[in-house]
Amino acid sequence: MNQPILPDAALGVLGSGQLGRMFAIAARRLGYRVHVLSPDPDSPTAQVADQEVVSDYLDLDRVARFAQNVSVVTFEFENVPSETAATCERFAPVRPAGSVLFTSQNRRREKTYLRDAGLPVTPFVEVTSLDELKRATSNLGFPAVLKTADWGYDGKGQVVIRSPEEVSSAWKTLNVPHAILEAFIDFDCEVSVVGVRDLRGNFVSYGPIGNTHSRHILDISVCPARVSSQVARDAVEITREVLKKLDVVGVLCVEFFVTRDGRLLINETAPRPHNSGHLTIDAHVSCQFEQQVRAICGLPLGSTELRSPSVMANLLGDVWEGGTPDWAALLAEPNVKLHLYGKREARFGRKMGHLTALASSVDEAEKIARRARSALVSQ
Ligand code: AMP
Repeated sequence: MNQPILPDAALGVLGSGQLGRMFAIAARRLGYRVHVLSPDPDSPTAQVADQEVVSDYLDLDRVARFAQNVSVVTFEFENVPSETAATCERFAPVRPAGSVLFTSQNRRREKTYLRDAGLPVTPFVEVTSLDELKRATSNLGFPAVLKTADWGYDGKGQVVIRSPEEVSSAWKTLNVPHAILEAFIDFDCEVSVVGVRDLRGNFVSYGPIGNTHSRHILDISVCPARVSSQVARDAVEITREVLKKLDVVGVLCVEFFVTRDGRLLINETAPRPHNSGHLTIDAHVSCQFEQQVRAICGLPLGSTELRSPSVMANLLGDVWEGGTPDWAALLAEPNVKLHLYGKREARFGRKMGHLTALASSVDEAEKIARRARSALVSQ
């Protein structure tokens, strides 16, 4: 049953954004075929896939037919309904399993699971009413962060509560039946580790990668992160434990806060390649997307050796505000690689692409990355 799935087989991906696109590119480089299912036509993934199925995730007949035509199913974003993953599982292995998706797609389930597994998470309390929120704030104190339990990403669905006077309005603003209240962490920095685990339980990882956010959206990632070797080792060990406890086959990213006294707290996990791991395409021997292919196909994992310090800068729709960005200016930088996702409409805050700068140190790479990004809009 666990025979490797070899090149020329068809791999199915649920979701069709840039993560699916980069997965499909890695898969096609290895000679696989890629089928994608999502509700959106002309998506970043479909543009490079062999077969596109435009379907609602809950059209389970279409989902079943999709799964019958592929050797394995994976996903590129975690908000695929669990019924969809369960339907696929009747016809093809789903890697990581639907159970991993189910745990990760809800903050309350995810945080409870990790805490009960003895892993360090941001202190939190589950809340389902204004009264419970008031009690929770008296336990956790101020400031605190109120987050929706479901469907949260890139800071969407969260409100910072700074004083007792803000509690009622925060509950009204969030306007959901299930939420969690988290202690606000006055962190020193944020890091992530992208972990990969194969069918036999072998584990490899990238990072830690240092991340800075702007308006709650990832802005810059640097590798290696500027943390002590102890913090780096701890982050990798915690990530190894997370993948093992969840029995992940595939890629999972753990995002951490590093506190001012050097402790690591898990902020969240994503059971798929991650934006902070995009620099692995240019900076590492095998990238996170190739590893996703290898892991889900039951093949040996590739090397995660870092070839060069590197910095990734996201390109959001904002870059298009003054017209078409000056691509020639960016491409004139010899050690910068440009990745665009094929999205036609450049909306404010929408992830349109990224660039990766390589240099002999992360400080130098960061300087180059910022200069290259500014050059896009400099006239
Ligand atoms: P999230 O969508 O939960 O990953 O949050 C996006 C960003 O908001 C994080 O990367 C942090 O920069 C910030 N943030 C989220 N939760 C907290 C917290 N409990 N304390 C401090 N900052 C937070």
